[in-house]
Amino acid sequence: MLIHVQQKQVEIDPSSTAKDLAEKLNLREPHQAVAVRINGTLKDLSTPLSEGDKVEFFNFDDPEGKDVFWHTSAHVLAQAILRLWPSAKPTIGPTIEAGFYYDFADLTISDADFERIEEEVAKIIKENYATQRMVFANKEEALKRFPSNHYKRELIEGFEDGTISGYSQGEFFDLCRGPHLFNIGKIKAFKILKTSGAYWRADASREMLTRVYGISFPDKKLLKDYLFLLEEAKKRDHKILGPKLGLFSIKEEAPGMPFIHPKGMIIWNRLLEFWRYLHNKAGYIEIKTPQIMGRELWERSGHWEHYKQNMYDFSIEEREFAIKPMNCPGCMLYFQTSTHSYRDLPLRICEFGHVHRHEASGALSGLFRVRSFHQDDAHLFLKPTDIKSEILRILDLVEETYSTFGLPYRLELSTRPEKSIGTDEDWEIATSGLKDALDEWGEPYKVNEGDGAFYGPKIDIHIKDALGRSWQCGTVQLDMALPEKFGLEYMDKDGVHKRPIVLHRAIFGSIERFLGILIEHFVGKFPLWLSPLQVRIITIADRHSDYAHELQKIISSRGFICDVDDTSESVNKKIRSAQLMQINYMLTVGDKEIENKNATLRTRDNVVHGEIVIEEFLQALQQEYQTKSLVSPFSSKEEYENNNSQ
Ligand SMILES: [Zn+2]
Ligand SMILES: [Zn+2]
Repeated sequence: MLIHVQQKQVEIDPSSTAKDLAEKLNLREPHQAVAVRINGTLKDLSTPLSEGDKVEFFNFDDPEGKDVFWHTSAHVLAQAILRLWPSAKPTIGPTIEAGFYYDFADLTISDADFERIEEEVAKIIKENYATQRMVFANKEEALKRFPSNHYKRELIEGFEDGTISGYSQGEFFDLCRGPHLFNIGKIKAFKILKTSGAYWRADASREMLTRVYGISFPDKKLLKDYLFLLEEAKKRDHKILGPKLGLFSIKEEAPGMPFIHPKGMIIWNRLLEFWRYLHNKAGYIEIKTPQIMGRELWERSGHWEHYKQNMYDFSIEEREFAIKPMNCPGCMLYFQTSTHSYRDLPLRICEFGHVHRHEASGALSGLFRVRSFHQDDAHLFLKPTDIKSEILRILDLVEETYSTFGLPYRLELSTRPEKSIGTDEDWEIATSGLKDALDEWGEPYKVNEGDGAFYGPKIDIHIKDALGRSWQCGTVQLDMALPEKFGLEYMDKDGVHKRPIVLHRAIFGSIERFLGILIEHFVGKFPLWLSPLQVRIITIADRHSDYAHELQKIISSRGFICDVDDTSESVNKKIRSAQLMQINYMLTVGDKEIENKNATLRTRDNVVHGEIVIEEFLQALQQEYQTKSLVSPFSSKEEYENNNSQ
């Protein structure tokens, strides 16, 4: 029979399974063909194929592949736990962004047990069970399988009608939608990462369970790389580094609402200056809309109906208000302040907007998940014919922004979902406008079919930090609904009133989150233009203090942030503390330097550059600052050239 595999057609014996086909195509390595999609649905590899089936295989590198791989691994974890602690009760075990967890009732373990569990897992993997799917005729049948696990029973009771399935491997059986790996021997490396407490069904009024986190790979080296990355990420954790460098703090009195400290404000203001410079150059006008607006506005925008659970609202003088969770409605009101002609379009309006969105306490995380943040927001009002050229202008802005931080990025286009408003023609114009722009931009991009918002297609921008981690920051969202809701109009050439199209877009995304990303990306070693403390003068003895302060005045007068450490600590200790603060340059001054009217330069990588002429030093710094260089001109020639040729 003939099977369609990706772009090809393959002839295969009748009654072959997807696994047979994978083998025929030589997809035999542990990371290959870990998942399969048949005619649009993810299935087990043991599924028999039929004439004309459309088959797509996924490797471990694909999200679909990882999901199946980790899902199956979670079952192996539960199997191992049950072998070691037979009275433990497995509840749920989903995959997460990196790996999986499994929640158990009646289980108490500590870090000291991890090795034992891993050994048991290794045994089970060696036993290399094939996974067996079984489908229950109904809920009653499924309940019979779990006579004494009331967690599983509660899950089954709660299932909507439909297929209830489970998987077994050896003696272990678990409820699961699947699909699973064909055989668990594909798992070549397995690690327990940590445990924590978690409430059953995330409900604080119910039982506390033991959550065990793990991760697995089809190759030992991948695990080694992952563990290295994890260690690196720990060193970079902005939640630890940020407060240590005096950049920000989060207080119990205001969960999820960061306090930005003076040093953090220096970075903040540099980002803001950069943002303003870029937007001015790109033809944007800037507005500021109120923090609090009346309920009627939020009803009109649809937030009251669809987003209220994330909004902070209150009433005063018997009128209801909400703190803005988004800047859009305010900008729409501004647009309505005056009449518009086609000559005014595209109209590009930016706002550095402070928004509040309620997030569950458990979801809050440093600067990454907050309740109060600032967006580098913008709304563009366009004629349909403007879409492509405006997208290209935005991509220019994206490029200039991210390349300044040395952050590579990739683009993803999300298209019309099943449920959507607007005519076929509207969507055609909107989607092809975005697509044409991306094609002309020339970089490869991914298409997420059907993943757009119901009111328009969008482009997401994912950046990659120094550890290779991906972050979604920017979005360009086309909107055909909001102009309708607010009755926005412009007068076209032919004298007819028409609706503009609105583009929402942000590049940093949330400034708080971007600051967190920058802290981790640079590990606190900010480039000079962002650095909250650029130069420190260190005295060798008390008698050098006057000279040090004179020097500080000169350096500060040239616009650099400079302080003096003339404490009575040892020079080595003073250098060490400057390095811990990641200060870009240290100038030590002693008798010799006073006599020569100069200073001895040391960079934060602990390289001593000898005595330098102050004026030459300042000119080099000026150059470094103005070009927003990512590398110090005093670093090795090789590093400097490498960075400036990228
Ligand atoms: Zn499963
Ligand atoms: Zn918006």
